Amino acid sequence: MSLPFDLIDGTLHAEHVSLADLAERFGTPLYVYSRAALEGSYGAYAKACEGRRASVHVAVKANSNLAVLNVFARAGAGFDIVSAGELERALKAGASPAKIVFSGVGKTADEMRTALRIGVKCFNVESIPELDRLNATAGELGLRAPVSLRVNPNVDPKTHPYISTGLKSSKFGVAYDEARATYRSAAQMAHLEVVGIDCHIGSQITEISPYLDAVDKLLELVEQVEADGATIRHIDVGGGLGIRYNDETLPDIGVFVRAILDRIDTRGHGHREVLFEPGRSLVGNAGVLLTRVEYLKPGEVKNFAIVDAAMNDLARPAMYQAYHAIDPVSPRTMSPKVYDIVGPVCESGDWLGRDRSLALEPGDLLAVRSAGAYGFVMSSNYNTRPRAAEIMVDGHQAHVVRARETVEQLLAGETILPA
Ligand SMILES: *Cc1c(COP(=O)(O)O)cnc(C)c1O
Repeated sequence: MSLPFDLIDGTLHAEHVSLADLAERFGTPLYVYSRAALEGSYGAYAKACEGRRASVHVAVKANSNLAVLNVFARAGAGFDIVSAGELERALKAGASPAKIVFSGVGKTADEMRTALRIGVKCFNVESIPELDRLNATAGELGLRAPVSLRVNPNVDPKTHPYISTGLKSSKFGVAYDEARATYRSAAQMAHLEVVGIDCHIGSQITEISPYLDAVDKLLELVEQVEADGATIRHIDVGGGLGIRYNDETLPDIGVFVRAILDRIDTRGHGHREVLFEPGRSLVGNAGVLLTRVEYLKPGEVKNFAIVDAAMNDLARPAMYQAYHAIDPVSPRTMSPKVYDIVGPVCESGDWLGRDRSLALEPGDLLAVRSAGAYGFVMSSNYNTRPRAAEIMVDGHQAHVVRARETVEQLLAGETILPA
């Protein structure tokens, strides 16, 4: 077995557990994660950080299942959160507050209070009004808030426009040209302590060069900000490293991390702590979505394979026209046909894959690959579809790490008007 999800005796397995058995036991649609794969990708980051003050803050939003976060917490990870809900998850998964950074463009005062009381490592702040609010909130609590500005280095990450975040036109971050002045404002606020600088230039980035460009721009700014009297203890280079969905070629995680650390060190900033905030590259290829073919529907123009997973389970194809490889769990020898793999939701956008050559019979199981990141976390109850169960495989064992939702649970919070 080479991959976390590979064929053994003609059937796809997650580590040593057959996906066909999992579908029998737990039903479909079903998210399946591999503990070994999670530990493998985290280990690649951690190993490349060895011997350097550098750390990994797992982006909770990519996959926020408690068991997944707990695997990372046990390995020593920090976390990057974007809401009070994610803060709660990270803590419950065993994170230490001192290893949590709080990102996001719209933090509420309540969220700030919670995070301040808990004592997070740093707030990644994205605007002057947010600095004002954080300063006031910390003041009310008699605390000083550690802050880092999320600066927009205005580099092109060469990825999908929905997931590039570091351009001038983006809602994220402080404009590069305004960053120095914004740091000056922050330095004057009594209840803030400037501790770092941060950026996050996009997602599913397949090249190292945009990061090196971003690092160069950040370091230039660090020098200016320190000339103004502040101290920048850490540089947070954000997340965004891509994964292989189809035929992309990607730098190794270790090569990527070393390239960034080397650039920072050779530019004379080796004394500063470096933070990484990966999401997708940690979890994306550590998960699959298992689904069963309900019907085959041949057509004049297209053949459809209607499966029991839908856009509410995996939104990325509908949302970004994203490609996910789709493989039969038990490949057949008959000759394949070309199918669109679609779900039962009442939307034409409800597809998981297009023009896929597959040999299928009704009842067959399919594994939608690379579903560990932005999969379950983006799922919804559209069409009153209970959300899928999540399983974590660990060697020969399979653990239910989130039970399948029931329709009863979906209706529980709703009431009709009095008679
Ligand atoms: C989404 C996000 C990440 C993680 O991005 P990936 O592409 O999943 O690695 C990291 N930092 C911030 C601020 C984010 O918004």
